[in-house]
Amino acid sequence: MADDTKGFIRKAAQSLVEARYAVALTGAGISTESGISDFRGPSGLWTRHPEADRAAYLYYETFLKNPKSYWTETLSSARGPGLGNLWEAQPNPGHLALAELEKMSLLKCVITQNIDALHEKAGSQRVLAYHGNFMKLRCISCGARYWREEFDLEQLQQEDKLPPRCRRCRGILKSDTVSFGEPIPGDVAAQSLAEAQVCDLMLICGTSAVVYPFASLPAVARERTGVVIIEVNAEPTPLTRDGISDYLIQGKTGEILPAILAEVRRLQTH
Ligand code: NAD
Repeated sequence: MADDTKGFIRKAAQSLVEARYAVALTGAGISTESGISDFRGPSGLWTRHPEADRAAYLYYETFLKNPKSYWTETLSSARGPGLGNLWEAQPNPGHLALAELEKMSLLKCVITQNIDALHEKAGSQRVLAYHGNFMKLRCISCGARYWREEFDLEQLQQEDKLPPRCRRCRGILKSDTVSFGEPIPGDVAAQSLAEAQVCDLMLICGTSAVVYPFASLPAVARERTGVVIIEVNAEPTPLTRDGISDYLIQGKTGEILPAILAEVRRLQTH
């Protein structure tokens, strides 16, 4: 590891120990070491399959026009190349390091763009899933969420009873995963904004920071003086270039985050 990387790791650990209210923001990059493709990294899904980008934008349109077709498509493999096996994926050392920092009361929450539920699997307790959780369904009328396994979707398909309906208000259910073009659910958007407005440290991990409104959260934190914003990413992002982050620790989240945790532990025992 380069000397300047080691220096930034020490600096980040010191800031975490001193922070009053630290939060983490994460993106697809933190899960690539768990075998889940990101979109825009060098081996990302859209880098390899540009047509998947366009298809993703049509998906929500299909839902609005015809929820039954959306569900039929979702239950078949007609959606084209996917992110990998989300059900089988396991958290990697990056997810585990964030969960441990929360357990040590040094991190208040993780706000993630990821839909893969790996922060929860790693043991993080306060996870705001900004773009939803693939294991859940959400009512588009009242916002109620259900575990996917509470519904036998294949059975509903066989009985020609798709789309599934909300048990509270009979509204139509879609996957909790927020599609391109779909508004961010109000509850998680408001909670995430409140975290960005209150934090004094933001640790941003594995995101290209180009998907809005998520990518505006660091700028919200930047508005206040004294807030420390650290990026851990494989490459520079608009946050790096526009000076929204104080510095970038360039490398893999699965290596840098455990190194920050180790340094935090060292500081706490000295
Ligand atoms: P992105 O694909 O746009 O960017 C990922 C960033 O992480 C890139 O800058 C890449 O260089 C970097 N990166 C890749 N592997 C890394 C590693 N091991 N360590 C450090 N950095 C690494 O991802 P995004 O910014 O999260 O935006 C993509 C959108 O697509 C999100 O809104 C998300 O909802 C969705 N998505 C989710 C998943 C998932 O749930 N795991 C996967 C793909 C896409």
